[in-house]
Amino acid sequence: MSAALARELATLLERSDAVLDATSAQARPYMTDATESRAVRGRAAAVARPATAAEVAAVVRWCYGHDVPIVARGGGTGYAGGAVPRDGSEVVLSLERLAGPAQLEPGAWRAWVPAGARTADVRRRVREHGLFLPPDPASAESSMIGGNLATNAGGPHSFKYGVTGAWVTGVQVVLAPGDLVEFGGRARKDVAGYDLRSLLIGSEGTLGVLTGAWLRLIPAPAAAVPVRAVYPNAAAGCRAIEAVFAAGAVGAAALGGGHGGFVVIAEADGTREEEAWALRDELLEVLGEGAVEIAALEERAEVAALWRWREGVSLAVTAQRGGKLSEDIVVPVERLPEALAAVLEVGARHGLSACSWGHAGDGNIHATFLIDAAARDDVARAEAAARELFELAARLGGAVSGEHGVGLVKRGALSLQWSAAAVAAHERVKRLFDPKGLLNPGKKLARPA
Ligand SMILES: Cc1cc2nc3c(=O)[nH]c(=O)nc-3n(C[C@H](O)[C@H](O)[C@H](O)COP(=O)(O)OP(=O)(O)OC[C@H]3O[C@@H](n4cnc5c(N)ncnc54)[C@H](O)[C@@H]3O)c2cc1C
Repeated sequence: MSAALARELATLLERSDAVLDATSAQARPYMTDATESRAVRGRAAAVARPATAAEVAAVVRWCYGHDVPIVARGGGTGYAGGAVPRDGSEVVLSLERLAGPAQLEPGAWRAWVPAGARTADVRRRVREHGLFLPPDPASAESSMIGGNLATNAGGPHSFKYGVTGAWVTGVQVVLAPGDLVEFGGRARKDVAGYDLRSLLIGSEGTLGVLTGAWLRLIPAPAAAVPVRAVYPNAAAGCRAIEAVFAAGAVGAAALGGGHGGFVVIAEADGTREEEAWALRDELLEVLGEGAVEIAALEERAEVAALWRWREGVSLAVTAQRGGKLSEDIVVPVERLPEALAAVLEVGARHGLSACSWGHAGDGNIHATFLIDAAARDDVARAEAAARELFELAARLGGAVSGEHGVGLVKRGALSLQWSAAAVAAHERVKRLFDPKGLLNPGKKLARPA
């Protein structure tokens, strides 16, 4: 860390522990994210941990004025390497201290939440007031609201409720060269300006640094009953998902995956208990067709165990060989069988074991190759295989990312699914918000560097 840079940042933040030497042991966790399992790790000039939105603005202003690149960071659970600094020149701007308190307005079904609040904490707090924040990434205990906004995170319940952006009525953000501004606010509807709030959601720290958001809430479901069905193969499981669409049975979640056999989890919920029971019966009937095993889980302990199992899938898969390379491609739901078969075929051709799981109802799979992250050859083969998956997603009319974003690891892949003119428009937006190219440089690039 340059001593001058550290001194300047420490002066701005007025606390000795607010700036970390990037080479210190304390700073190590800030040099990677969940892509560590595929050997992504970076270097930074310093780590700054401001405690207020005004301090975030001061850090951005100073860095922008001195041509120092900035990498915003939430919980560091990203799967795209978006929060990973690259070459040692950047300041990692961690939002962890913008953690509270959330301002709850339960009577109006809304909350103001600072960027550093942990997702699961916010969901638990609003639940205490009988309210529900639907976006529920499986990383919710560690991810932060700011990170969820910056990646427009999804989760098991996006099938019915949509992704994070659907629940945001306003954002507070620091724009270059250091201006704290708000787009939207408490009001549930606002079509007055260009929809800059939506533009910033999912922008992965490349257009501004989010410091907080107004979130829209709904009354918590009175009951939620998962139905778990097992099929002999992926084709039968995919047919069951399509049957759910045909029957109009809107499960809150519609997950699926497997290697060989195929498991589908669909959740029936409702604001009144009878609604949930009726939907449960409908799902049992529709998903029962072709299933070798099916059950509705109604005991609290078995429901908790099911979701714990679901949250642990990623870690369990990683444990097989110590690492994995997973890509969250998305395809139109009727192309799911082709995509699932192609993942196994591509993996086999590159000499890699493969499996998929994910948000089947959304056509969004975590196509995964098992690797030893310490073996360079494994990583290289898995990256070549992933490139084929991006081409496949584009060819099937889908997208290279349905959840995790482009970050560092998917840079350039967007140009496979977009025309040259669309790519140029994407780049013009970036230049407009970040004329010096200092906000998370090298990330979310539409064309190969
Ligand atoms: C076990 C596990 C399960 C997961 N399950 C899901 C899932 O179900 N659905 C899903 O969508 N994702 C999932 N993810 C991926 C990840 O949790 C999400 O992308 C999450 O939204 C990232 O939040 P974070 O706070 O950890 O952000 P980080 O990883 O810290 O950052 C992610 C990106 O956002 C930017 N960023 C972070 N905070 C800000 C801010 N305040 N302002 C501007 N930019 C910012 C960073 O620069 C980076 O580009 C999972 C990850 C893991 C490890």
